[in-house]
Amino acid sequence: MDKISIIVPCYNEEKALPEFYRAVTREIDNIKEAECEFIFVDDGSRDRTPEILQEFSDSDSRCRYLSFSRNFGKEAAMYAGLENASGDYCVFMDADLQHPPSLLKEMYRVVKSKKYDCCAGLRIDRNGEKHLRSALSHAFYKIIGRLCHLDMGDGKGDFRMMNRAMADSILELKEYNRYMKGIFSFVGFDTKWIPFHNVERTAGETKWSLRSLFRYAVDGILSFSSAPATMAGSTGLLLIIAAVLTGICAVWSGGGFSGVPLLVCLILLLNGIQMFFISIIGQYVSKDYMESKRRPIYIVKKKGGF
Ligand code: UDP
Ligand code: MG
Repeated sequence: MDKISIIVPCYNEEKALPEFYRAVTREIDNIKEAECEFIFVDDGSRDRTPEILQEFSDSDSRCRYLSFSRNFGKEAAMYAGLENASGDYCVFMDADLQHPPSLLKEMYRVVKSKKYDCCAGLRIDRNGEKHLRSALSHAFYKIIGRLCHLDMGDGKGDFRMMNRAMADSILELKEYNRYMKGIFSFVGFDTKWIPFHNVERTAGETKWSLRSLFRYAVDGILSFSSAPATMAGSTGLLLIIAAVLTGICAVWSGGGFSGVPLLVCLILLLNGIQMFFISIIGQYVSKDYMESKRRPIYIVKKKGGF
């Protein structure tokens, strides 16, 4: 019999957890071909989350949990959950029921068919979300898509069920700064997307302020792209060209090359040269940064004939 591990990062989710547990157990009881385990990861909650998880594990042998010593962030909680999951298939779910449990059965059917390695939820709208947050998120996914050349579209979140091969390759990426959407995309594998509408959080509040979302966005870009360093180089070059053009214009117009034009020209030139060299240093640092992550050079999907 197959085993499905349901991995749930939880940070201050005392209000949402009871309903989450009820709703998900209802769904998995309908999946007759597989048994399930819950791996809850309490990410340093300061409310009653750890007590609730203890109650779950006391009353239901399918429930396990880990408790972090402090808040390490959702990405770390997902990694810990995956590392401790023993299922043939693993699925990440948020505790607030924003990832509809009704999709679990279909996800299992897809990955079990072996046609796909992963079946993921694709959120097709942001109904109920604040406009500013929606607009910023949308812009971020456009930028990151351009910069990183990886498939990290808007709506492609963490709600995914994957087979063991994909789970193991994610575990092989041991980098500290983990940007899961980038990691999913980096490891590849065949993914089927199932669309779903955004649902509002069942209880409790979102853990993301605009500030923490901004930090997350910058982390995502820096983890998967050295384009910003290249951009500094291009900007530097543009400034140097602008400096030369200012000089030529000043001489051409017959006004002489002194006073304001000379000052503007010098400021542009010096800034340009400075940015250009900072960018070169940035390129070296970014290469070393990528190297220090010790990512695998390639990933074997299947082996045969050994
Ligand atoms: N979460 C976590 N650690 C954090 C922040 C969030 O484990 O530092 C969990 C949270 O408990 C929830 C999931 O990650 O299960 C998604 O968080 P949230 O609903 O706040 O994010 P949103 O849906 O608003 O993007
Ligand atoms: Mg949520």
